[in-house]
This record gives sequence, structure tokens and C-alpha cells, in this order.
Amino acid sequence: MRKSIVAIVGRPNVGKSTIFNRLVGERISIVEDTPGVTRDRIYAQAEWLTTQFNLIDTGGIELGDEPLLVQMREQADVAINEADVIIFIVNGREGITAADEEVAKILYKSNKPVVLAVNKVDNPEMREEIYEFYSLGFGEPFPISGTHGLGLGDMLDKVVSYFETLNDQINDNDTIYFSLIGRPNVGKSSLVNAILQQERVIVSDIAGTTRDAIDTPFKKDQQDYVIIDTAGMRKRGKIYEATERYSILRALKAIERSDVVLTLVDAESGIIEQDKKIAGYAHEAGKAVIIVVNKWDTIASDEKAMKSFEEKIRAHFPFLEYANIVFLSALTKKRLHTLIPQVRLASENHTKRVETNILNDVIMDAVAMNPTPTRHGKRLKILYTTQVAVQPPTFVVFVNDPELLHFSYERFLENRIRDAFGFEGTPIKIYARRRS
Ligand code: GDP
Ligand code: GDP
Repeated sequence: MRKSIVAIVGRPNVGKSTIFNRLVGERISIVEDTPGVTRDRIYAQAEWLTTQFNLIDTGGIELGDEPLLVQMREQADVAINEADVIIFIVNGREGITAADEEVAKILYKSNKPVVLAVNKVDNPEMREEIYEFYSLGFGEPFPISGTHGLGLGDMLDKVVSYFETLNDQINDNDTIYFSLIGRPNVGKSSLVNAILQQERVIVSDIAGTTRDAIDTPFKKDQQDYVIIDTAGMRKRGKIYEATERYSILRALKAIERSDVVLTLVDAESGIIEQDKKIAGYAHEAGKAVIIVVNKWDTIASDEKAMKSFEEKIRAHFPFLEYANIVFLSALTKKRLHTLIPQVRLASENHTKRVETNILNDVIMDAVAMNPTPTRHGKRLKILYTTQVAVQPPTFVVFVNDPELLHFSYERFLENRIRDAFGFEGTPIKIYARRRS
């Protein structure tokens, strides 16, 4: 099931960034009194009750010297294109302004659910002042205070209520959905085309399409695949042309809809900071991951070159230790045939369930080999382990005291599970729970 995407929109200074930080729970973007300050991060994962979602702060999208109105329009456009639900923020201390009406006009035209939040309602007496905002036409306005953290629960209840209908659109279970991510020019479009040619898929004319992403189904060795291509979104507007920073926003929804994410790097130009960020997003999403080194034709290819490139990748992406690496060339099709089998393997591991009794044998053997840690004279006791979920495989270890399961011992257990069951290509999660 993919996580829903929520975007925050509104004119400058209404408190978008403050609310983004509140909802994300960390101060990851800078709030200043100056409107239009540069934000570090425009998207992050957030959680309400037990529901996780992705949150976009459209206020962080800046277009240099463009007039304010153009910027606001572009930001609203991003929200409409990328988000499942939009939070429209206005300022309760200033009433409705012409700029608010401008944003509202753009949002009307979308078919996306919009939740209207009236910010800076810092005390209950001010609640009367929200009624004028009904006239914006988005139903009941929610009074909130970003700085005091008030009213956010009711607003989020409303936001989350829209998710259920979305999750009806879950992927067909037997089909493997995959997408390609990477910075501009690594060869995403070329690789999509190469795969479709190799699998002899006849693609109908897609010019001028307005859809978010183009899904192309194909079959190989009795297995159904769908390749999710986001390249078609490029010609939308200024923001999508605006290179690096937004390549991840473009890919966000595709990642969420994927079972397997192919993260591309460029053999010719090497690994740069941007690649690490993008790979990090793939990892965070909990999807199966394959690292594809494209443009391998530009390297005098031998075993040694491959080894040395692999070392570089492992050093740059330590969090993707589980991901297999495929070297290929979308241009010459060299080694292209090695890719789809890896996609299948990663997907199978992502959905794999292991038997509880074998799992417990593996854990007990692990404990015998490397005794559990102690703290303040108290030793960790592992009573029972079970797999509670797939996509990604998730394990719960019942213990006498969860505090005693340190990161290093958890890593050790993860490695033992991986050695025993071979979860190549997929992250796995381990949680400790107290058993009374
Ligand atoms: P953005 O431009 O829409 O992202 O707005 P910011 O989050 O940068 O906030 C603009 C200003 O409004 C900052 O000075 C915030 O401290 C202030 N602000 C944000 N939320 C609230 C609120 O709930 N109450 C009050 N009184 N001020 C707020
Ligand atoms: P995207 O922006 O990630 O979709 O990248 P493109 O698919 O548009 O490719 C960017 C450039 O890299 C184009 O000029 C391609 O011809 C070139 N390119 C793509 N794949 C390869 C490859 O395997 N080898 C070489 N030498 N060039 C490639």
C-alpha cells in the first residue's frame, strides 16, 4: 500500500513552514520572519496516529526572481500534481486577502480534496474569527496554531479521512511495479526505453499526455511487470524544468507506488551528493531497491573496474547494503538482460514470509554464537520472534526489556536473518516488544 502524499499550500507568511515542522516533528526547515526564506527540505515523512504519510511544504519551492503571484501559482500546481490531499493555510489574524483568493481559484479547478486550515488562532477567543473563511468554499475551516500546536489533531483527522478511498487503488498483487529514480541525465528515459524495447512492448503514442506517470505493463517469463515512468512530467512547468532539487518530488509518488525502486547512478560522471539524497529516499520508503550503474559502456569494463565501482557505491550508500548492484548500458544494451531478473528477485524477497519455527531456531543459534548484551547487570532475554509483515519483511522480537536490545545487537540479528533466509534487495525491519 502506498503512503498518501499531503501538500501544504498558502501565500507567504501564513505559517506553512511552521506547520510542516510541527507535523514532521523535527525542526528540519528554517523558520524566519522573512517571507520566502530558503528551506532545507521540502518533503518529509509524517505520522498521525498510526498512519504514515509524505508531507510536502510547497512554500519551500522558490523560483528566483519570479513575481510572487507566479510563484504561488507554481506552488499550488505542484500540490495539485503531486498530492492526494491538500492543506490550504490562511492567516486568521489577517482575514481573506486577494492572494488567498488567487490560491483558492487554482485549487477549485483540481479534483483533489482540500482541507482549509486557519492558522495563528493562538487562543480560543479567536475562534469566532474563522467563520469568514467559509466563503472560500472549502467547507469547514479548521482553526489551528502552528506555533502552539493547537487544533492540528482535528485537522489531521480530516486529512487522514481522505486516505481510505485512495488506498482502494492498491496495486494488483501478482504484478511487480517498479520505477526508476536518479538525478537528471543519469539515463532514466533511455533505460525505460531500452527495457521496453528488449521486452518488445509496443508503446502507443503518448505525446502530450497529462497524466502523472505513464504505466507500461509487460510480461516476462510468466511474470507481469509494470514500469512506472515519470519522465512525461518533465514538460509541465518551470518547476519541473528547475532541475535537481525537484527531481525527487517528481519521483515521490512513483516510489510510493512501486514494489521495487531502481536507483540510477552514472558510471561516467560518478557519484555525487545528489545521488546519495535520492538513494536515501528510496531506502526510507521501505521499498526493495536495486542500484543500477548506467553508462557502463563509457568505462573500460573489466572485473577490476566493477569491483572498484562497487566499493565506491558501498562507501557512499552504506544504508543500501542490502541492495544488489547492476552494471549496464541503456545505450548499447550491454548487460541489460541482467536487470529484470534482479527486479524479480528483489520483489520476491520484499514479499517473502519465513516460517516461525525456523526463524526461532535461527535466532536461538545466533544467541548461542554471540550472547545477548547486558546493561547494569541485566541481560537481554529473547523469548520469541515472529514475522508480522511483508513489504518490507518486518519482525517483532519479544524480549524481557526492549531497552536492552542495542542497535549493534539488532544489526547482528538482522545479519543472521539475512544469512539464513537471503533477503537480498529488500530492507528488513526489526522491532522489540516487551513480553510480560
Ligand atoms: P510560511 O511563509 O507560510 O512558511 O510561514 P512561516 O512558517 O515561515 O511563518 C511565518 C511567521 O508566522 C513566522 O514568524 C512564524 O513564527 C509565524 N507563525 C507561524 N504560525 C503561527 C501561529 O500559529 N501563531 C502565530 N502567532 N504566529 C505564527
Ligand atoms: P534522464 O534525464 O535520467 O531521463 O536521462 P536520459 O535518458 O535523457 O539520458 C541523458 C543522456 O545520457 C542522453 O544524452 C543519453 O543519450 C545518455 N545516455 C543514457 N544512457 C546512456 C548509456 O548507457 N551510455 C551512454 N554513453 N550514454 C547514455
